[in-house]
Amino acid sequence: MRPPIRVLLRRAFKLRCPRCGEGPIFRRVLTYKEYEVCPRCEFRYDPRGESVAFMYFSTAFLTGLLVIAMLLTRPQNLVVGRIFVVAAALGLYLVTMPLRKAIAIAINYLHAGEEGR
Ligand SMILES: [Zn+2]
Repeated sequence: MRPPIRVLLRRAFKLRCPRCGEGPIFRRVLTYKEYEVCPRCEFRYDPRGESVAFMYFSTAFLTGLLVIAMLLTRPQNLVVGRIFVVAAALGLYLVTMPLRKAIAIAINYLHAGEEGR
């Protein structure tokens, strides 16, 4: 029996295995080096590489948020505004990457279950 989605999301926010909630997903978060299987319960995190698709979608979502922010704000200096938007985009994409990957693995587990079937 799989845990409810709120438990899976809580484990994703802690960057932990969706099945056991104990094993880490990443060897090193800062370099995004991840385990193929959970070191605790040996659950295969991303056997078919589906989390990559989710990461593209979530990147598009973040881009949409930035476009909305650009439409709602009016920088006094256009060059400074552009530099801020590019820096914010790169920062958001990089900082949220492990979390987006962990959420993708949790969603895959919710839908596909054991061994990603
Ligand atoms: Zn595990």
